[in-house]
Amino acid sequence: MGNGYLTGKKVLIVEDDLSSRLYLNKILEKAGVIILNAGDGLEAVKVASNNPDIDIILMDLQLPIMDGYSALSKIREVRNNVIVIAQTAYSLMGDKEKILNSGFNDYIIKPILSQNLIDKLITNLKRD
Ligand SMILES: [Mg+2]
Repeated sequence: MGNGYLTGKKVLIVEDDLSSRLYLNKILEKAGVIILNAGDGLEAVKVASNNPDIDIILMDLQLPIMDGYSALSKIREVRNNVIVIAQTAYSLMGDKEKILNSGFNDYIIKPILSQNLIDKLITNLKRD
């Protein structure tokens, strides 16, 4: 899966739902990704600030304490170039535009399929 392209890349998973987080961890572990986790927006900002070598942040939008949009804008203050991909349950066009206009590099629609996630990460790394 992914032909090893993701091996050694560092990804921060931001997800408050534990079973979803474990699922994403399992997919990325198989791909050889170095994984960091955060369960809310504020924790995401802290982890992103303390780990300047993160390649990609996979950001849930609906999060406790601080939502994904606010967390992104805080992260952009310290890490302008990191790739941040929104995870969204919504597929309405208005939300896609809002996501991209908010400074996310890309988005992925839940429920997330493993091959879609791998493809999405590789596409964004190659574009960077
Ligand atoms: Mg959530």
